[in-house]
Amino acid sequence: MSGKFDVIVAGGGPTGSTAACILAGKGFKVALIDKAEFPRKKLCGGLITYKTTQVLEKVFGCDVDCLRSRGIINFESPEYSINYRDHNIRDAQSSIPFRFVDRVDFDYFLLQKAANAGAHIFTGEEIVQCNYMDAEVKTKSNRIYKGEYLIGADGVNSTIRRFLPYDKRKWQADMASTIEIIFDAADYPREVLKPELYIGHLRAGYIWVFPAAGKVVTGIGALNRATVNFKKIFMDFLRSQGIADPESLPMKGYPLPYGNYMENPCFGRTFLAGDAAGIVEPLFGEGIFYALQSGRYAAEAIAKGLSENRNPEKFYLERLEKYVFPELRYSNRLRWTLFYSQPLLKHMSFKMAFKSMPRLLADMVHGVRSYKFLLKKEWD
Ligand SMILES: Cc1cc2nc3c(=O)[nH]c(=O)nc-3n(C[C@H](O)[C@H](O)[C@H](O)COP(=O)(O)OP(=O)(O)OC[C@H]3O[C@@H](n4cnc5c(N)ncnc54)[C@H](O)[C@@H]3O)c2cc1C
Repeated sequence: MSGKFDVIVAGGGPTGSTAACILAGKGFKVALIDKAEFPRKKLCGGLITYKTTQVLEKVFGCDVDCLRSRGIINFESPEYSINYRDHNIRDAQSSIPFRFVDRVDFDYFLLQKAANAGAHIFTGEEIVQCNYMDAEVKTKSNRIYKGEYLIGADGVNSTIRRFLPYDKRKWQADMASTIEIIFDAADYPREVLKPELYIGHLRAGYIWVFPAAGKVVTGIGALNRATVNFKKIFMDFLRSQGIADPESLPMKGYPLPYGNYMENPCFGRTFLAGDAAGIVEPLFGEGIFYALQSGRYAAEAIAKGLSENRNPEKFYLERLEKYVFPELRYSNRLRWTLFYSQPLLKHMSFKMAFKSMPRLLADMVHGVRSYKFLLKKEWD
């Protein structure tokens, strides 16, 4: 027996570190368990929005200046570009810069914050079994960790989720696949100084070209059920960018939840959060903010439940329903409006959306405005 804790957090990505940092900071005995040794890699474009920096400041006490001075934010651009195939729809300016992080440094930084707050960190420990009603997990090394509650923050391929009675067909129906290729900036055929999105190559998905310190991050993400030949589409795109032999480059793929968030991610004493619960924005695939925010809500609900000796499920669901799910629902509607209209209107549908109100749309992505009719958005 490796220990009895108030809360077990499975996974030390942004979701898990946020949850562990909050709970340990409130004096609870927390075990955060991750199969990887940190710093570890995570496939990601690394784009963070204004709402992300707000929650980072709130939970970890590190604002944009602090993140910049520690090298966590490594690139910023207020400009962005939207393209429909080879039509440039809009080179626009956002009132708030888009910021970029390298997930190796970002995730390690957050994990260290959780450790400094007092969480017990167990890395190199792979969870292989879970008893969700008892908040108990077993690791590959045969250790058992038991808590009052368990937070499943172990990402899109969650082991914890495998032991839960969730709707697997619904989950599979909205899964996406991604591929990323990262270039040294000097090897990319042109300078990339702003995030660029390329739409129209896929029925449901897009290609991105993102800047980073000394690098260019290119990737493609597409809903599995609406996509054929997605690797070939990406290779053709890179060739059109001037990359001679993209097939020969090192590339990595990873799944992405893309509209399959669980409306109720609570199972007995086990709550899922972040990618494990599919809590990712379904148009652009923004997941870091939703990882932080759902990890925060799960942790704060459990802290309240433990302190008041009440079931925390209600507290977690209330905040997801009030602040997070409406954004996911409306972004899902927007994506189908845009993606269904593209065979008919070609680039005109995107032109109408992005040309007329580029600042408002950037504000929507940053979380200042809502995906619901671009209304002002208040986060708690
Ligand atoms: C190609 C790609 C590009 C993306 N780009 C962006 C972007 O630019 N901006 C953005 O906001 N989002 C982006 N996302 C989404 C974002 O990466 C995720 O939403 C985010 O990482 C979710 O965080 P998480 O903590 O829930 O999961 P993860 O970051 O996946 O962390 C899960 C952790 O759990 C651990 N784990 C897994 N299984 C076990 C186990 N059995 N036992 C113990 N530990 C385990 C893993 O080692 C890992 O450390 C992108 C995703 C992809 C695939």
